[in-house]
Amino acid sequence: MSKGLPKRSEDYSLWYNELVKRADLAENSAVRGCMVIKPYGFSIWEKMQAELDRKFKKTGHSNAYFPLFIPKSFLSKEANHVEGFAKECAVVTHYRLKNDPSGKGVIVDPEAKLEEELIVRPTSETVIWSTYKNWIQSYRDLPLLINQWANVVRWEMRTRLFLRTAEFLWQEGHTAHATKREAEAETVQMLNVYADFAEKFMAMPVIKGVKTESEKFAGAESTYCIEAMMQDGKALQAGTSHFLGQNFAKAFDVKFATKEGGLEHVWGTSWGVSTRLMGALIMAHSDDKGLVLPPKLAPIQVVIVPIFKSEEELEEISVKAKEIVDQLDDIGISVKFDDRDTYKPGWKFAEYELKGVPLRLGIGPRDLKNKTVELARRDDFSKTVINFETEDLITIIKDTLDNIQDSIYQKAKSFTDEKTTSVDTWEEFVDVLDNKGGFVAAHWDGTAETEEKIKEKTKATIRCIPLDQVKEDGLCIVSGKPSTGRVLFARAY
Ligand code: AMP
Repeated sequence: MSKGLPKRSEDYSLWYNELVKRADLAENSAVRGCMVIKPYGFSIWEKMQAELDRKFKKTGHSNAYFPLFIPKSFLSKEANHVEGFAKECAVVTHYRLKNDPSGKGVIVDPEAKLEEELIVRPTSETVIWSTYKNWIQSYRDLPLLINQWANVVRWEMRTRLFLRTAEFLWQEGHTAHATKREAEAETVQMLNVYADFAEKFMAMPVIKGVKTESEKFAGAESTYCIEAMMQDGKALQAGTSHFLGQNFAKAFDVKFATKEGGLEHVWGTSWGVSTRLMGALIMAHSDDKGLVLPPKLAPIQVVIVPIFKSEEELEEISVKAKEIVDQLDDIGISVKFDDRDTYKPGWKFAEYELKGVPLRLGIGPRDLKNKTVELARRDDFSKTVINFETEDLITIIKDTLDNIQDSIYQKAKSFTDEKTTSVDTWEEFVDVLDNKGGFVAAHWDGTAETEEKIKEKTKATIRCIPLDQVKEDGLCIVSGKPSTGRVLFARAY
């Protein structure tokens, strides 16, 4: 086995990059900013997708698919939208290559220039709203509740595996409604779906809030978000849900005949989470030994490692192990029996620690004699010996997985709480940011100027105006102007 991971306390960023690579989650590709998601990483993403997809369908949404390419003219129809995305768009200008006359490789064929250039979608509001114009005529066509699983491209300059890549995988919901109230309710509903997923499946506590005007989505009336705290004290935006008002309906002329016989623009929302959630999952829980995965998202929940010297010993252990595998299979717990004789148990222990398998069962010849197995938890490394004749092993395994899921959440919750500090002065604000990190709850005068000034001086941004903000009179830490409640600042990914 190669040497251990870098320590989080020494170089968090290096620890993260090495962990992503060594745990076989993803790697960099030939194109800067784009990543290859490896099978183990992809299987975690698939588990996330499956649960999110189930939640979307349960709330009435259907999946569809829209094209990767967007005509340039579409993107410019909503003024704020194009302004927000213009700086990071990949543009297709030609549709053919030809042999380089010099004989070296190929060049773009200048004669194959597209009449209208195409944008590789950075998000799909424009292509979808241009389609909705044909799908929506009357109030009977509403609400229209669509989700798409896709890849998008945003030409990001500073990239990092999963957290910020030039191409990423995501889902984007796009809904159309007859009334403002309905669209607003949908925006909040989907924010709650994301928060519920983050907390119950990723075991990651999140703060629900609203973005400030300067941080909101380009083209939205308002942006709701979930923000999570990573172990290095930096915040991460984990999901967004936008109330689009009638902006895209107006840009694409999407009107519907109302019940009363009038003609009105429809109201819209869009919402998305991406492969960034993989980065959040890793950064929220993992340790210096490797990944710590919540059981609900772990591709392998239980691994059984036999400890043997001879083939006969392995055979005897295998009988018991396979019996356990069958019983766990029956109740839907994913289990792997690693009976390879090409690796020693110690190597396997380290490997499954690195991969974040929540529960490890060890069985050796002495265990068989004593009718026991050893259970080792990944989250706190605690070990217990269970007698499988006198105790109900399968129920204990199931309960232990539930307990691990809960413990990981509680640990992250205490950490987030501990890393949230209220301050009343500029000095305190800077001191907390520099020496403690985390969320800083402070009064702000509500202006973009102050927000920008704070960002320039400290690199901290307003992560959100929390939905559960307590009304409280105070003074802005920069301008001294009055404020009616604290907002959450942090340095962020
Ligand atoms: P947005 O459309 O900007 O609201 O982003 C939707 C979701 O994608 C949010 O949850 C973001 O955190 C995530 N996201 C935005 N940019 C990137 C990126 N470059 N890489 C990965 N995820 C991203």
